[in-house]
Amino acid sequence: MNNKKIAILGAGPSGLAQLRAFEAARRAGVKNLPEIVCYEKQNAIGGMWNYTWRTGLDKNGEPVHGSMYRYLWSNGPKECLEFADYSFDEHFGQAIPSYPPRAVLRDYIMGRIDQQAISKYIRFECPVRWVTYDDSTNMFTVTVMNHKTGEQETNEFDYVVVATGHFSTPNMPYFKGLENFHGRVLHAHDFRDALEFAGQDLLLIGASFSAEDIGSQCFKYGAKSVTLSYRDQPLGFDWPEGMEERPLLTHVDGNIGYFADGTSKHFDSIVMCTGYLFHFPFLPDELRLKTHNCLYPDNLYKGIFFQNNPQLIYLGMQDQYFTFNMFDVQAWYARDVILGKIPLPEKEQRLVDMHHWLERHEQLDGEHDNIDFQASYIRDLHKMTDYPEFAVEEQGELFKTWLKDKQKGIMTFREESYTSTVTGTVATQLPAPWLDIKGDSLESFMALDFIDVESQD
Ligand SMILES: Cc1cc2nc3c(=O)[nH]c(=O)nc-3n(C[C@H](O)[C@H](O)[C@H](O)COP(=O)(O)OP(=O)(O)OC[C@H]3O[C@@H](n4cnc5c(N)ncnc54)[C@H](O)[C@@H]3O)c2cc1C
Repeated sequence: MNNKKIAILGAGPSGLAQLRAFEAARRAGVKNLPEIVCYEKQNAIGGMWNYTWRTGLDKNGEPVHGSMYRYLWSNGPKECLEFADYSFDEHFGQAIPSYPPRAVLRDYIMGRIDQQAISKYIRFECPVRWVTYDDSTNMFTVTVMNHKTGEQETNEFDYVVVATGHFSTPNMPYFKGLENFHGRVLHAHDFRDALEFAGQDLLLIGASFSAEDIGSQCFKYGAKSVTLSYRDQPLGFDWPEGMEERPLLTHVDGNIGYFADGTSKHFDSIVMCTGYLFHFPFLPDELRLKTHNCLYPDNLYKGIFFQNNPQLIYLGMQDQYFTFNMFDVQAWYARDVILGKIPLPEKEQRLVDMHHWLERHEQLDGEHDNIDFQASYIRDLHKMTDYPEFAVEEQGELFKTWLKDKQKGIMTFREESYTSTVTGTVATQLPAPWLDIKGDSLESFMALDFIDVESQD
């Protein structure tokens, strides 16, 4: 009997991947699997993919995890995040377009999970409060607040898997004069409904996915003007009339924003699309990953195992081109190390491997390089596991096409279709321009008359 115990912290896509990995082993007849407890702060699985109207604190007084907003459509092709062991075809029973809205992707994530089977592992409304490690017993002690019982609980584990995400704690800069601005100033984490900004002159600080997407959303839902302010490089898309980029905001005076190029403009609201902090308030210094958002955080062997204590496992801590399938491959690899199928090298050898990747990481030059790097990282893990093949390099090429499609039309790229590397299915097309499709529910999306691209050829 294997009496190992594992705590998984978080039941978002990464935590669920870890549960699924063990479930796949169980189905394959592997005996003596470890005992698993998954602690989840929210009252549902799905992590970031659960939309919440709440901002600030949740009903238990815990910081709201969700940064998702209404009308969010996938920002990359779904073909690049498809689970290799559960295709979109299997879930929907028909081809769907390449860029579905949030609710459709959430439905897909949920579809793979046998909720009844996994619910026995998950402890909802149990935010993790503190984790310690005892060198004499080689065990972790995990303390959680069980909001359902109103009691704190403490348990011991051989392994801890941190899968709490890193797009939840706002990085919030200050600009002179903000305290006298006569309008809303919020971080992207608290952005929920683009309609709130209809008719407004909106300023977004930042030049990343959040700024690009929140800007596009607000334009789509009727903002009067959208200005994106960049620190280093503009996003450089061919923005529609009403959207523009300016260099960094220097200060604000009343409702006027002043920029580094000497220009100024009136604004009604300001959204800080300025990224997120890696925040693990439940981990002491010696166990805490200290990094910024990058493709290869330091001190994680294989991007997973904490160098100073490899019984501590981090999933999904990389910056993300690939998402769901990368989390799966990480989870499968972590499972096999825990089960003793993949040997964990000594500390020195782990360091050599990490340095190899960190050196490559330092030399990355541009998005294509980044994509190839992440694909080769995934391949490096994948080749050691029995996770099904999903042609990660081909998906990397799809990401490059996606970049080109965004350059062609930042408001139209979601109308393109791609071919699944898992099933060979060509995605159908949206029946109308993305800008004109305002509904984002699962029902309204699935009721659209998708266009079969293949039969048109
Ligand atoms: C606005 C936005 C848009 C995005 N759009 C896309 C997209 O289009 N396509 C894409 O592939 N990816 C997108 N992403 C990336 C997204 O983060 C990943 O797809 C995925 O959700 C990451 O999974 P995760 O499990 O690592 O983290 P999360 O999904 O963040 O899940 C972490 C889980 O941990 C729980 N948790 C946190 N702290 C604790 C604690 N102390 N105790 C217990 N539980 C805790 C949380 O409640 C949550 O359930 C987007 C992210 C954001 C913020």
